[in-house]
Amino acid sequence: MRVAVLSDIHSNIVALDAVLSHAGDVDAIWHLGDVVGYGPEPDAVVARLSERAATGVRGNHDAAAVGGPEIDWFNPEARAAAEWTRDAMAAETRRWLEALPERRVVDDILLVHGSPRDPLREYVTDRRAAGENMEVQETQHALHGHTHVPVAWMATPDRVALVQASDTSGIELGAYRSLINPGSVGQPRDGDPRAAYLVLDRDQGRVTWHRVEYDIDGVQTAMRSVGLPDRLAARLTFGV
Ligand code: ZN
Repeated sequence: MRVAVLSDIHSNIVALDAVLSHAGDVDAIWHLGDVVGYGPEPDAVVARLSERAATGVRGNHDAAAVGGPEIDWFNPEARAAAEWTRDAMAAETRRWLEALPERRVVDDILLVHGSPRDPLREYVTDRRAAGENMEVQETQHALHGHTHVPVAWMATPDRVALVQASDTSGIELGAYRSLINPGSVGQPRDGDPRAAYLVLDRDQGRVTWHRVEYDIDGVQTAMRSVGLPDRLAARLTFGV
């Protein structure tokens, strides 16, 4: 069984379609939240995930878009985009987002947006946070997003190891606990502007990261034409 794992799509339908086309014939699609926010096409992204029967969880931007208090933690541009999303999205999109749980275990793998212990808030960016989370996660392997950086944390007997992912790199799931981040489809922040995702091969016990080019200019034009903050469009060029 091959699963495409996508996170932080952020209303970027062009990047999502490029990734789905690259992934080809997978058996399932899992998403790790932040389906909307920042980008120009919340309805199209939710419609695509819905028609592909994607399974997933809620991110802080999804929560903010449906009226959650998470909007109060946002910087001014993120807040403006969340307010735009709230007003622009269809009622059906809103209902789909509202139905997303904060955590979900699928095939013995935990799916969360931020971290296993704090799914809507915590950014796992250091060994200490990764180690503490892997101690409390209810499954051996967990998938998370939120930082928009593709990495894996592994709890080996003597330390928490960090694996920094690049295009076509991969790891064996192995015997240790792991917390694995596919990176961001719609707004990468690791200096590589290409859309990021990973493929989980359950039979081989392996994950492989991928990077996919998409029409960044077209998305920037769409963002500017609906009045989203210019800085959110500009950053897509650099993947920051
Ligand atoms: Zn995000």
